Order: sequence, then C-alpha cells, then structure tokens
Amino acid sequence: MKSIDRTKPVLVTGGTGYLASWIVKQLLDDGLEVRTTVRNLAQKDKYAHLTALAVKSKGVLQFFEADLLKKGSFAEAMDGCELVIHTASPFKITGIKNAQKELVEPAMEGTRNVLDTVNATESVKRLVLTSSVAAIYGDAIDILKTEKGIFTEAYWNTTSSSEHQPYPYSKVQAEKLAWEMAEMQSRWDLVVINPGFIMGPSLTKRIDSTSVEIMIQLATGKFKTGAPSGDMSFVDVRDTAKAHILAGFTPNASGRHICTSADKSFLEMADVIRAEHPELPLPTKFVPKWLFSFIAPFIGFSRKYVKLNVGYDLRMDNSYIKKDLGMEFLPFGQTISDHFNQLVADGIIKKS
Ligand code: NAP
Repeated sequence: MKSIDRTKPVLVTGGTGYLASWIVKQLLDDGLEVRTTVRNLAQKDKYAHLTALAVKSKGVLQFFEADLLKKGSFAEAMDGCELVIHTASPFKITGIKNAQKELVEPAMEGTRNVLDTVNATESVKRLVLTSSVAAIYGDAIDILKTEKGIFTEAYWNTTSSSEHQPYPYSKVQAEKLAWEMAEMQSRWDLVVINPGFIMGPSLTKRIDSTSVEIMIQLATGKFKTGAPSGDMSFVDVRDTAKAHILAGFTPNASGRHICTSADKSFLEMADVIRAEHPELPLPTKFVPKWLFSFIAPFIGFSRKYVKLNVGYDLRMDNSYIKKDLGMEFLPFGQTISDHFNQLVADGIIKKS
C-alpha cells in the first residue's frame, strides 16, 4: 500500500503523445504540479497544446527533455516525484521496416532506462506503466485457448516475436521487464494499465498517432469495400487517462488492469459514424477473409497476421479495473462520435 502525496510533482513520460496529453490535462485540471518529458524541447509545436492547457488549468506544468534510448535522461524530471506515469513507447502496427530498432529496443531499453532512474530516485513510491492488452494476447485466435472464452489479467502474450506481431512483442517484453525490476526492491510499487484499442478525441491536430490514423482511414474510405471481421476491444482515451491517475493515487491499487469498455467490430465503429454522417464512404459489410488475405500485403499486413487475427472475436474481462480502481467507462458510441467530430472540427477530416 502506497499513499502518494498530491502536493508533490507527478512525472508523465512522453507528454506529446495522444494518451499522455490527456493524462497531463486531467492532472492539471485537478490542480497538480505536473512534469512531462519531450524528446526535443526545441520542437515547441509538438507540445504547444499542453502549454495552452496549463494556462487555463489550476495546475502547474514543466517540460523536460528526455529520450527513451538516452541513459539517465529522465533523472532531472523525476527528482522529487513520488508518482511516475510511464507511457512513452512507440505505437506502430504497419509500415515497420526494422521492428527491433523501431519498436522492441525503444520499448525495452526505454523501460529499463526509466526504471533504473526510478531505482536511483529516492522520492519515487509508485510507477504506473502503460502496457496494453497486447501484452495479454498476441493474435486474436488466442481467444480460442482461453478457459472461459474471455481474457483476464492472468493471461500473457506468448506468441509474438520481433518477426511476427512486433508491437505486441514490444509491449509484453517491456511489461515483463518492469515486473522483474519491481520485484527486486520494495521502496516503490508497480501498477500496470493494459488498455485496449484507444479511441476518442485527440487534444492535438497530430495525425501520426496510430489511433488517429485508423479513424481517418475509416472515415475517408480506405475500408469502403468492406471491413475486416472480428471484434476488437476498445476504450476511450479520456477513460484510459483517468485509469492511470486512479492507479497512481489509489493506495491499495495493485497488479495488471485490463482497461477496455466494449468489444466491437470495425463495422460497428462505422455504424456509429454513419448514423450522424450517412454521406461518408464507410464500410457496410465485412470483407471476406480470403479477399482480405489477398490484399493484405498491399496495405501493410502479412498473410499470417490475417490468418490468425481476422474473423476472431476478442473478449476482455474488465471487472478487475472496476473493482480495484472504481473505473466506469464512457459508452462506445460516444467515444467514436466524439473522436470523429474532433477530427472534423480540427479540419483534419473534410466532409463534402
Ligand atoms: P503516440 O501518440 O504515438 O505517443 C507515443 C509517445 O511516445 C510520444 O510522446 C512519443 O514521442 C513517445 N516516444 C516514442 N519513442 C520515444 C523515444 N525514443 N523517446 C522518448 N519518447 C518516445 O501513442 P499513444 O497511443 O499515445 O501511446 C501511448 C502509450 O499507450 C504507449 O505505451 C502505447 O504502447 C500504449 N497503448 C496505446 C494504445 C492505443 O490504442 N493508442 C493501446 C494500448 C496501449 P514523440 O511525440 O516525440 O514521437
């Protein structure tokens, strides 16, 4: 059990990110002193939205420069913090040329680097780590091996590698390393959040975050001939941010937490948007698996990925996070609708 002093600064790594920006915002709105790291302080446009949010909030925000691959670079930002929320990690599922360099090394070495600094910083009492449901399963077909047809926190991804499903591999390896390092000491404890596919409004106009890219692709017609079948597990970015903060400040919080609100298909996502915008080129049916397999390599997926993932319905048990952290989730329809409307309001998706 760890009580975190709310008057001490809280460090959020990777503040420029889609999820981290919401964590920073919610902490600032709560009136806390927040520190966040960015890769390059000179690139002010990447964090101008946070500077603007801080001005309007009750809290105080400070920026520090740190890179996951630069040893010791998180030390100055962490000094004096009791709570560290480590979210920074590359999230990419297509267009990967060198998985080891682009995903696995930054995730693993970054976690080791941040946790080495946690070990060296006497003030730290708790580390909240952003893992993923991808650390629980590797391919959707793994659902068939579950005891009750549903994933719980007891499951681990055992099927990914740097060659097959490198992003899930980077997440499971990083989370395992974090548990190993946490168990070697007793001054700080580790609480892990395992979000599903995060959607919901972005606080920036950046379009290089995978969650944002998928929404843009759906709304602009990439899947108009048909969507891949199978349910994914979704969660709202605002809820995911809240879960991290609750994980930080709930004294008895412990363990891994599946953070998902609904298991839904791509088509159900399209249906939500269609209800408000029937004129858009959205998919109305599932694309047959054989056809998806045929086109997969041209749109950035391997045939093995399609074989093991398309057509299987993921089911995630979110009962533990509700019990341990008292989480409640926004409805799926609101998440998708708010995300789509933010992209239109920011001029990123143009409606004809
Ligand atoms: P994002 O918008 O792409 O943010 C990733 C963040 O990591 C950015 O701030 C990025 O900095 C930072 N980063 C990447 N490489 C770095 C490096 N070498 N050194 C320092 N910072 C680095 O992605 P996101 O969706 O917010 O993801 C945040 C976390 O949530 C990740 O741990 C991801 O695995 C996890 N997650 C995401 C989802 C999802 O659906 N989005 C689901 C489950 C878990 P730059 O701005 O400088 O690039």
